[in-house]
Amino acid sequence: MTYNITDKNSDILGLLLEAKEQGITLFLEDGRVRLKVKEGVELSDDFLKQLKEKKERIQQFLESEVGQYQDIRTSYIKNEIKPYDRNSNAKIPLSYAQERLWFIDKLQGSIAYHISGVMRIKGKLDIQLLNEALKLLINRHEALRTVFRDDDGIGYQHVMKSDDFQLTHVTKLSENTNIADFIDKTTSQAFDLANDYMLRATIVQENEESHVMILVLHHIASDGWSLPIVISELETYYQHLRDKTPVNLPPLPIQYTDYSIWQRNYLSGTILEEKLAYWKEKLQNAPVLNLPTDYVRPAVKSTEGALHRFKIDATTTAKLNKITNTNGATLFMTLLSAYKILLYRYTQQTDITVGTPIANREQEEIAGLVGFFINTIVLRNQLNTNEDFNSLLQQVKQTCLSAYTHQDVPFERIVDHLAVERDQSRSPLFQTMFIFQNTEEIGEMNLGESSVETVATTHTTAQFDLLFTAMETASEIAIHIEYVTALFKEETIARIAKHFENLLKSIADHADDSISNLAMLHTDEKAQLLNDFNATTVEYPQHETILSVFAKQVAERGNATALVFEEEKLSYQQLDARSNQVANYIVSKGVKANDFVPICAERSLEMYIGILGILKAGAAYVPIDTNNPVERIEFIINDINAEVVLTSSTQSELFNTIEKEILHLDQLEAEQLSSEAVAVTIVPSQLAYAIYTSGTTGLPKGVKNTHSGLLNRLFWMRNDVNITEKSVLLQKTPYVFDVSVWELLMPLITGCKLVIAKPEGHKDPVYLQNTIEKHQVSLVHFVPSMLAVFIETVEAEKCSSLQNIICSGEALPVQLVKDFKATFTNTSIHNYYGPTEAAIDVTAINLTNNDYEVTIPIGKPVANTNIYIVGDDMQLSPIGVSGEILIGGIQVSEGYINREVLTKEKFIESPFKTGERVYKTGDIARWLSDGNIAYIGRKDDQIKLRGYRIELGEIT
Ligand code: AMP
Ligand code: MG
Repeated sequence: MTYNITDKNSDILGLLLEAKEQGITLFLEDGRVRLKVKEGVELSDDFLKQLKEKKERIQQFLESEVGQYQDIRTSYIKNEIKPYDRNSNAKIPLSYAQERLWFIDKLQGSIAYHISGVMRIKGKLDIQLLNEALKLLINRHEALRTVFRDDDGIGYQHVMKSDDFQLTHVTKLSENTNIADFIDKTTSQAFDLANDYMLRATIVQENEESHVMILVLHHIASDGWSLPIVISELETYYQHLRDKTPVNLPPLPIQYTDYSIWQRNYLSGTILEEKLAYWKEKLQNAPVLNLPTDYVRPAVKSTEGALHRFKIDATTTAKLNKITNTNGATLFMTLLSAYKILLYRYTQQTDITVGTPIANREQEEIAGLVGFFINTIVLRNQLNTNEDFNSLLQQVKQTCLSAYTHQDVPFERIVDHLAVERDQSRSPLFQTMFIFQNTEEIGEMNLGESSVETVATTHTTAQFDLLFTAMETASEIAIHIEYVTALFKEETIARIAKHFENLLKSIADHADDSISNLAMLHTDEKAQLLNDFNATTVEYPQHETILSVFAKQVAERGNATALVFEEEKLSYQQLDARSNQVANYIVSKGVKANDFVPICAERSLEMYIGILGILKAGAAYVPIDTNNPVERIEFIINDINAEVVLTSSTQSELFNTIEKEILHLDQLEAEQLSSEAVAVTIVPSQLAYAIYTSGTTGLPKGVKNTHSGLLNRLFWMRNDVNITEKSVLLQKTPYVFDVSVWELLMPLITGCKLVIAKPEGHKDPVYLQNTIEKHQVSLVHFVPSMLAVFIETVEAEKCSSLQNIICSGEALPVQLVKDFKATFTNTSIHNYYGPTEAAIDVTAINLTNNDYEVTIPIGKPVANTNIYIVGDDMQLSPIGVSGEILIGGIQVSEGYINREVLTKEKFIESPFKTGERVYKTGDIARWLSDGNIAYIGRKDDQIKLRGYRIELGEIT
């Protein structure tokens, strides 16, 4: 029988359900709504008030839907659990839940499934009586004396007598043991499920008047609802034995074994099929929750855990209760909705699945039993971040209500039915749990005239990545987070707790604001991310351009060697003169500021002179790979609307069909061009270069970069790796990659010497080693994959002139850095990161004195650059949480050539600083607490192939 929740009654169902959970029954008598409250349950004023407010609706509901209400009851009556025939010899099957735990125990042990209660008893304690009382208790509840045996791989239950039960009496702890350690040891001592009683009691005598009692139950025989039963009945028996008081316990009509048999029978055939179909529809293809972790996830799930506690203040709690009531929901539903938002913010996943335990003790006859009844239900929701919190709460409420009506399907059956792929590193179907508890776990206990108090124990296990338990206390909400210590650091969990608290506060005040506007970060935290981590403002010559700075080098060290290529050399003076010739040619063809001039030449002095010539003419240079097919060359030349093309006579056949002015750089003399400087003014905001990225077969896009961005990048790096006129740089990166831009132009601002590698030389480690040795090169760039080949091939001593190695372009592996440091003991290694769209690199880190074990960070933002890491809703991702990198600051490019739509999409107004443009990189990363950034991957399917950016979507 299914209980249909309709919109008509949804406003009070939450209330009714909460009432039911609290042990309150609502019914009609003489046309009036009446309450029946279970003994011991205290009604809060708040809850009563809510009931009164909704009195009329409850009455209507009970009147109109009473038929259905009764139907549920009859369906249970029909499925009444009866005792099985004790004389039969049939083996008693395990309940589904027991079976799963039994398998887990065999596979990896089950210490994480111990349930313990630790109490200090002050005053007289009769240990003999206590032992007898425990025996009576164990005798009463078969589950506590049931063991699990194996019949050809199939488990069955065997019920023992309680006769042999014996508590452990420890009269004195050994010298070096303190009580806390002893409790830890005792609670984590494994059970032998085939032979042990499922309850273990240890009494430690501290002195005549003080004992510590450690009760440990195995979850296979109990659950959170069982513990209070154990405590209260133990008390009853003890008093009975001591004072000869009568035992006032109701008889137990059935035992756990009856329940197991009933469950196997009832939950079979069509009933099971229908119920499983429900869960299958709800949970099919539920994605794994990818919580960001501090450590690499172990291949096999670790269950070592710890606990973090915090509180939600009374004001917020009151507001949350109000929202709950207006929505006709329960506080659990409200907190769960908030938890889902938290998880969304942490994972960027909108399809969120969370587990929650459910008592699963609907039938009267099992209410008083000790046993493993608790079931887990899985609550899945799709978050729409444009909706407000109230809408999400309504959605979560419906999910909960319909899940409650299917709660009796054992979780393990659902897992089997969905054929969830087994992954030993995570729990199946859901990875985090949220529990709402109405009361503290263990009630008061009273043993004769002795006083008993609960002893807080350290928490050492965790079954899920994260487990939130919320409890409503007098006016606040107390929450604790149990977490896996192999995944998270304590500081991370503390931050998560703070974020949950902030989120709840924000919800309390803005339940009708869209989810994406809810604030999770504290103001201080925001300031840290926006300001402290981005404190990059540095003076640099803003009014200069690369050419005005170069002019100074020429004036100061005209005769110094600027370029070396094979056997050839050029001084600064010569370079100046030769590039003037190119500039004169270009200017004579009418090229103006911000025009593009393509250059297609192999690595050579001419190539260099060509590039500098273009810059001097006030144009932006556009490098074209000499290996490109003619169609691609034509595409670029048309895209940039080129008037003039610079190439060399060896490449001339590529341009046979192109009707443009062509200058062969190797035949400059023949042109009889002037070496005088051209009279062109160049301003910093002007374009300096455009580089085409992505797709060898798709349409590439040209990225426009300015002089100011470039100059900032060069000056920043000059300081970062201390480049002086004494430095020797190697230019080996093909000029279609923007790394080549700093390699090429760094001499212009520093006066250093640049050694230009021969064409193809960049691929040959031995050639590189010889070149480094011959010219005493001090700085080289490598993409990580190439560096790996390099250190494997070369002799480090021959490269002793190397002071710095720069890596960039792709993720730098931890091992590679280790290998490098081991071989090149006198060379610093740096990791730089940046897209072509932001003048080469925007973050950097020197790894010389930093060892990283998990990932090598890409470092901190460079000078005059802002890095923001944001979620899809443009909210700042806190430390540790992944998001997309946005780049702001001086280096951000002007956009793409002729791609207005794409430019608008990728270059947006900064959400954090007025007037700032930011570039959306599509790179996913997260902040580390020291202000460095860890790179994670791509948002899209762009890949890097030997440093070359390829957008897979563009391949046709
Ligand atoms: P490009 O425009 O060719 O410089 O490519 C830029 C892209 O390369 C970035 O958006 C990243 O995806 C990747 N990338 C660059 N540097 C690094 C790095 N140090 N670590 C990881 N990925 C990087
Ligand atoms: Mg780059």
